[in-house]
Amino acid sequence: MSSSFIDLINHTKGKNPNQPEFIQAVTEVVEDLIPYMNEKHPTWSELKIIERIIEPERVISFRVTWLDDNNHVQINRGYRIQMNSALGPYKGGLRFHPTVNLSILKFLAFEQVFKNSLTGIPLGGAKGGSDFDPKGKSDMEIMRFCQSFMNELYRHIGAETDIPAGDIGVGEREIGYLFGQYKRLQNQFTGVLTGKGKFWGGSYIRPEATGYGLLYFVQCMFESLNESLVGKIVTISGAGNVAYYAAEKAIQLGAKVVTFSNSTGTLYDPDGFTPEKLHFLSTLGRDLNGYISKYSNAEFHQDSKPWCFKCDIALPCATENELNEADAQNLIDNGCICVAEGANMPSTREAIQIFHKSKIYFAPGKAANAGGVAVSGLEMSQNWIGQQWSPDKVDNRLKVIMENIHKTCLKYGKESCGYVNYLKGANIGGFIKVAVAMKAQGLV
Ligand code: NDP
Repeated sequence: MSSSFIDLINHTKGKNPNQPEFIQAVTEVVEDLIPYMNEKHPTWSELKIIERIIEPERVISFRVTWLDDNNHVQINRGYRIQMNSALGPYKGGLRFHPTVNLSILKFLAFEQVFKNSLTGIPLGGAKGGSDFDPKGKSDMEIMRFCQSFMNELYRHIGAETDIPAGDIGVGEREIGYLFGQYKRLQNQFTGVLTGKGKFWGGSYIRPEATGYGLLYFVQCMFESLNESLVGKIVTISGAGNVAYYAAEKAIQLGAKVVTFSNSTGTLYDPDGFTPEKLHFLSTLGRDLNGYISKYSNAEFHQDSKPWCFKCDIALPCATENELNEADAQNLIDNGCICVAEGANMPSTREAIQIFHKSKIYFAPGKAANAGGVAVSGLEMSQNWIGQQWSPDKVDNRLKVIMENIHKTCLKYGKESCGYVNYLKGANIGGFIKVAVAMKAQGLV
């Protein structure tokens, strides 16, 4: 590790105390960027491009007050981190989850800058959300919370300024309430949010995009090894939007998906999920255990993760830091050859070091889960021109975008021995365009 890397991390830690997730994300990126920049673009060092990229352009924090169904006053904290607008208007999801804090949103916003750059669509990076917990809330409570959240957020966003989308806890229902309130406050029907319903400005394939895009990326990884996904055993964590559509596409491509999970435990079906089984699962909500009443070969493992089950491919699709060093070793001992992240930063730094040391293929979220924001970008294009494209057209464009991201990773991540360091490829490939734009736009 170079002294400039250590100095930068120490400086960042000092400036951002108690933000471990943000420091983790910065460390994973700048470790690759500093040697690259020193060798290829020394002038970027003088312009302090990296120091500037890790400082958010704007951090907004606000109070969200709302009334619950018992007429009790509730108070949450809302945030929007506008990280970098060198390539285009700010873009990134909103997360509603009790664990949301400044550190988590800054790491997500930071990752988003590189991810959005990799898609090739002109988008800056942002993230936002609240420590509001939608679980167990009534529809009316969700609506009142979303309206109150938008009463402050609306003044900071706009179709040409900042275009939020969904993330954990924010799906089509929440986007609907947020959009409705924005429209009322501004008296404008514009593409200010993505992830809208398909009858009111949304894009086909947006719900599927992150999961499908993940599998298109994994397909590229296997094709580059002259292998196919047919018959491969896949473990998936999470049972939400990304996990569900990743499983659907994996099954379509001939793989055998054997797990889902949530914060209660892991559902393991050794026979593999089928489209019918997926449909049944989707009717159960968070009750994964309920699946066993119909499919008795399956097992529910309370409080356990999917990484102890034998697989060829592991797809972490739940949340950050859900796959640690011990899990990584378990996966390798059980013959796993590929880990691709549907979630953002689900693998710890130690886990990634094990993947790289063992030379198994590891695709970081900023590359592998970029399909969601890519189709959000396509939703913005459709809103601008007042059109709605067919599902096939959007799906084909998603596939091409994921193939291009894969090519970028190969270009900057392929080592002389032939091994592809996808993390390095994504970090450098995502960084270059942002750095060029920041240099061109001067000290702003
Ligand atoms: P959802 O809210 O739809 O689903 C999240 C799933 O992960 C739920 O099943 C949830 O279980 C589970 N989960 C959350 N926290 C934990 C935990 N600590 N332990 C075990 N399971 C957990 O979210 P998404 O599917 O949209 O997002 C999943 C991940 O993908 C996130 O990291 C997100 O940032 C990332 N992502 C999402 C995109 C999108 O388009 N939606 C785009 C790019 C990345 P439970 O219900 O029990 O909490």
